[in-house]
Amino acid sequence: MCGLAAGMQLAENGQEVTVLEAQHFLGGLATTLRGASGAGFDFGPHAYHARNERVLSMFKTIAHDGFPAQPKNVRIKFRGKYYKYPLEAVDLARSMDPFLAAKAFYHYVGEVIRRKIRPRELVSAEDWVVQAMGRTLYGLFFGPYTEKVWGIHPSLMAASFAQHRIPHISLWKVVTTSLRKGHAKISGSEHRYAPLVIELYYPPKGAGLISQRLAERIRAKGGEVMTGTLVTGLETKDGRVTAVRYRRVPPTGTDGQLCLLASGVEPGLDPWRLNGTPGPEERIECDAVVSSLPLPALFTLLGDAVSPEATAAAKHLRFRALNIVGLRVKKPKVLPAQSVYFQDKTFNRASETRHYGGTEVCAPDETVVLCDITSEIGDAIWNADPKELGRKCAEELAAEGFLDPADVVESVVLRTTFGYPVYVVGYERAIDTLTSELMGIENLLTGGRQGLYKYVDMDIASEMGLSMADHILSGRTKQEAVGAIPYEDRLFA
Ligand SMILES: Cc1cc2nc3c(=O)[nH]c(=O)nc-3n(C[C@H](O)[C@H](O)[C@H](O)COP(=O)(O)OP(=O)(O)OC[C@H]3O[C@@H](n4cnc5c(N)ncnc54)[C@H](O)[C@@H]3O)c2cc1C
Repeated sequence: MCGLAAGMQLAENGQEVTVLEAQHFLGGLATTLRGASGAGFDFGPHAYHARNERVLSMFKTIAHDGFPAQPKNVRIKFRGKYYKYPLEAVDLARSMDPFLAAKAFYHYVGEVIRRKIRPRELVSAEDWVVQAMGRTLYGLFFGPYTEKVWGIHPSLMAASFAQHRIPHISLWKVVTTSLRKGHAKISGSEHRYAPLVIELYYPPKGAGLISQRLAERIRAKGGEVMTGTLVTGLETKDGRVTAVRYRRVPPTGTDGQLCLLASGVEPGLDPWRLNGTPGPEERIECDAVVSSLPLPALFTLLGDAVSPEATAAAKHLRFRALNIVGLRVKKPKVLPAQSVYFQDKTFNRASETRHYGGTEVCAPDETVVLCDITSEIGDAIWNADPKELGRKCAEELAAEGFLDPADVVESVVLRTTFGYPVYVVGYERAIDTLTSELMGIENLLTGGRQGLYKYVDMDIASEMGLSMADHILSGRTKQEAVGAIPYEDRLFA
């Protein structure tokens, strides 16, 4: 979405644009892929929301023929019960064992007092969550869940991860939010990257519609959008990128696996060999490059044009891989909410696109359930047979009483090497090195979820693309545009 938003903004402002996409489809993580019956499978739930009016109005204009809003309805399951997320005091008080609720309240108030008298040093995500919500709530859900999703203990993850993604809980806010209804739940002060969004939008046929239409708008202005085109190198001269090298590559889908997103530089992994052989290296000259490739991969592709310090720093940044198991089920409805988070299943979360507004993603008497499973490249989950993963998820959903495994008529897997940036303690130093290095390559901009190594949603990824295009159109230097802006607040580097 980031690259396509940038491409659209540039093409519609008179620039000659070429978009290079490694996969045979558009949209990256925000795509919708079709299974055997034409049913749509997303990379987990991909509902649209935005705090930025410019982006929300862009989404609404693009999906003008159908973009219904749904109230957010997400649940967390822990200790055998379902809780609303974000947490609501009334719901917690109603469903939680009174002794546990009292303990959670005691620890929470302890942390509120401690913050005033002797604040904790906030180094890790664990420090941050404990000071924000107390040790009981941290231990009940956030600690175990974070470790399950990211594969490392929260004490090893940077505090800024939690700051980015977990809204700071104020008891007052939890109480007042619980009592308010609908729009009034939005208080306006939640974190930019993890807003307490209560209204979500979803195109009836699938999230991928927006990417398709961004591409159509680029083509309508004479721009070129090339799929199956893996970028393999960037040529530089005198501190500027002069050309992009690429290869034509076959699709990454194979039996039961609809795709495998990768940057092409992951050691020992070449998903483009599954269906043939990549073509010879070709090149395209350019005046400027907007990259939404994973940031460490961009440094690999820059090769000798970057310093050994930057190359070493890029190795500190890594991603958690993601496997989405998509099940087409012969039932009109399966889950009690749009998404449900679990601690004790193979998957971290199960979601049902229909509940987000995807009324046409499959036949009316069927539904699509998406199960997110995080992993490392090459581990047992990553190498598991897609059918086997489908069976496992179906059994676990059946154990929860949601479906009968016999109702599952199709199962597919979507994979990516870059699901989530892993914010290990100290990653900010690596980011500083890389962003300073990029200040020296004036006509190369990087942005997007992977490109800026920020755990952002589609709205911010799109905003990043638009702002990179605005920058190119402005004629300003990078120093003038972002030199004084801290990484935390930047939309590109
Ligand atoms: C499980 C999950 C659920 C999510 N749910 C939501 C949600 O409900 N709402 C929301 O707003 N956001 C959601 N997001 C976030 C959303 O997916 C991202 O913010 C957004 O898609 C990022 O867009 P991007 O363009 O920055 O990156 P990407 O989508 O990753 O795009 C990068 C593109 O670069 C391509 N590429 C990589 N290497 C190369 C190469 N060498 N050559 C050519 N092309 C290359 C990739 O194929 C890909 O298309 C979710 C993310 C995940 C993982």
